[in-house]
Amino acid sequence: MIEQTVRRVPLLDLNAQYRTISDEINAAALSVLESQQFILGPEVRALESEIAGYCGTAHAVGCASGSDAILLALMALEVGPGDEVITSPFTFFATAGSIVRLGARPVFLDIDELSYNIDPSLIEKALTNRTKAILPVHLFGECAAMDQIKALASERSVPIIEDAAQAIGATYFGRPAGGLGLAACFSFYPSKNLGGAGDGGMLTTDDAEFAEKLKVLRGHGAKKKYFHEFVGMNSRLDSLQAAILRVKLRHLDDWAGARRENAARYRSLFAQTGLLENGKVKLPSESAGCFHVYNQFVIRAEERDRLQGYLKEKGIGSEVYYPMSLHLQHCFKSLGYKQGDFPASERATQEALAIPVYPELSAEDQEYVVHTIDSFYG
Ligand SMILES: *Cc1c(COP(=O)(O)O)cnc(C)c1O
Repeated sequence: MIEQTVRRVPLLDLNAQYRTISDEINAAALSVLESQQFILGPEVRALESEIAGYCGTAHAVGCASGSDAILLALMALEVGPGDEVITSPFTFFATAGSIVRLGARPVFLDIDELSYNIDPSLIEKALTNRTKAILPVHLFGECAAMDQIKALASERSVPIIEDAAQAIGATYFGRPAGGLGLAACFSFYPSKNLGGAGDGGMLTTDDAEFAEKLKVLRGHGAKKKYFHEFVGMNSRLDSLQAAILRVKLRHLDDWAGARRENAARYRSLFAQTGLLENGKVKLPSESAGCFHVYNQFVIRAEERDRLQGYLKEKGIGSEVYYPMSLHLQHCFKSLGYKQGDFPASERATQEALAIPVYPELSAEDQEYVVHTIDSFYG
């Protein structure tokens, strides 16, 4: 093994991105400070209309986080005790947490090994007369198998809520994530492809009545101030976030393009090693008809945890998304799931490792990452 100098390659470098647009961001933030208008207001309305346009939907409703977006969508569907919501066990906690917070039961389906998204062939058996919604996740930036999901859902008139938190800009056979179900949930958490300067979220929908209900629910269920039709919540988007996100939205497609180029470069770099042939590493798939925006580039790796430690020593950031399948989480014990229920999801928790794919990553950084992984197995 050749000794190599350590190069620092973080999993995500928000400073690098900020440096490219700091003038625009600073001006947008300053103008909000000058206006002293901080909650909702014109900046949020403008962002809502731009996100709706971007996703090809008639409406968008800002809220305080991606987690709240999911909660609001389920509240608007009046999901509650006795109801079931079909979703993935291999996702961020909020997807299933929102279902349980409303007193309903998450019905987990195992994932497709290659796409990390729910296996649509398992849906039919999971549908019952208590199924109130299907909540597919577009994990890591690639849409779930929406045509199959939609066919089954519409047969039974079950609404679909997309968890599109990682997939803004992704498309499915040409149609944008966010317009593939009754409503979709986005997150502006800083590490998402469209990340704010703090928490933020958005819902998109074509349904005017549903959009109106979401707006009422995000403001404590009051259509008219101080007169409450529902018990809603306080989940509003800040003007400061909206102003910053509007700047970043203008760059989003370029950033997605850079992420995709980086993914393609990884494919050719890994192909030059023996790692794919000897099965030490597997690369993420791109499903037919899916425009993947690579919020994460997630490989499967033998001896994953040891590899992660080695990468850390060599200055390379990586992350395990996700180390525990949701059906095995302590807080969901009462749901009665057990080890072995979802083998593909459980395997992914052992093998998956996200490596840097952010837009500003250089070709030299990527060469260093692949070379380092190769030398680990070498
Ligand atoms: C980030 C994320 C969320 C939650 O978004 P927050 O803005 O962090 O609340 C929900 N689902 C998925 C799949 C996510 O990645």
